[in-house]
Amino acid sequence: MQESGQKSVQNIRLVGIVGAGQMGNGIAQVAASFGYEVLMTDISEAALQKGLQTISGSLDRLIKKNTLNEDQKKQILSRIKTQVGLAAHKDSDLIIEAATENLDLKLKIFTELDQVAKPSAILASNTSSISITKIASATKRPTQVVGMHFMNPVPLMKLVEGIRGLQTSDETFGLTKALAEKMEKVFVESVKDMPGFIVNRILMPMINEAVYTLHEGIASVESIDNAMKLGTNQPMGPLTLADFIGLDTCLAIMNVLHEGLGDSKYRPCPLLVKYVEAGWLGRKSGRGFYKY
Ligand code: NAD
Repeated sequence: MQESGQKSVQNIRLVGIVGAGQMGNGIAQVAASFGYEVLMTDISEAALQKGLQTISGSLDRLIKKNTLNEDQKKQILSRIKTQVGLAAHKDSDLIIEAATENLDLKLKIFTELDQVAKPSAILASNTSSISITKIASATKRPTQVVGMHFMNPVPLMKLVEGIRGLQTSDETFGLTKALAEKMEKVFVESVKDMPGFIVNRILMPMINEAVYTLHEGIASVESIDNAMKLGTNQPMGPLTLADFIGLDTCLAIMNVLHEGLGDSKYRPCPLLVKYVEAGWLGRKSGRGFYKY
């Protein structure tokens, strides 16, 4: 079995990101803001351009708040390179996969990344729910595969959930933790590599139950969100949050919980399934439980 040649976080210079969607571009922004060279890849030039635009808009908001200046924005953007396809990751020291939440897709990506990445590279996944052990099995370097679960929006949210696959080495896990801390994130170690880890094991059934509450006609979208916001002191209601996360991602996570834990209490609400079938994916598609 290969051992990582990365002895310390100082050896991590180029951070690779796979997927330029809301999570991928957020991670790219944060890594570049903390001085890392970033290579962000996706399946199309259009997806990369959209990701870069989102980063630019996010940095502009920081400029408006006077926490960043134009010069710093330029420097951050200059550190982010983009390319279509995975082959470009041959020089990346640590690669964070943030592609669509789909097991087969992730297995395919990790098989290919394992072939192109240098032997010392660490392969991390930002998956919300899928087994890191399973993802690692698609590679010949399972000791160097780890879960690095950022929260959305990445530039604002402090948490990174650290997930150890069955074979993840202490060295890999330690380096991942050190990288997260370099980016001023709080790295919480998930107890076990089980479906949904900590956050989504608890959050997603709540969101799914909110969709059931709507589906069963118990209350309107606005009432459900207001009740949960004011009644449980959450900054936003569960349906607003679901739109923010992406309803396709919420459904994918519920399916992983349902299949992985085998308990009917995790069955996805039929209304959630319908919305995804309709292409109502939340903010990213312009319509979910709300219209944007
Ligand atoms: P998204 O739909 O915004 O972006 C997914 C991106 O992956 C798209 O740009 C798509 O083109 C790209 N992609 C698809 N196939 C690819 C491939 N073969 N190679 C490279 N790129 C590919 O989704 P997202 O919300 O950014 O979620 C990405 C990952 O992060 C998922 O695993 C999700 O579970 C996880 N995650 C999401 C959230 C959230 O709140 N949305 C939070 C934490 C973790």
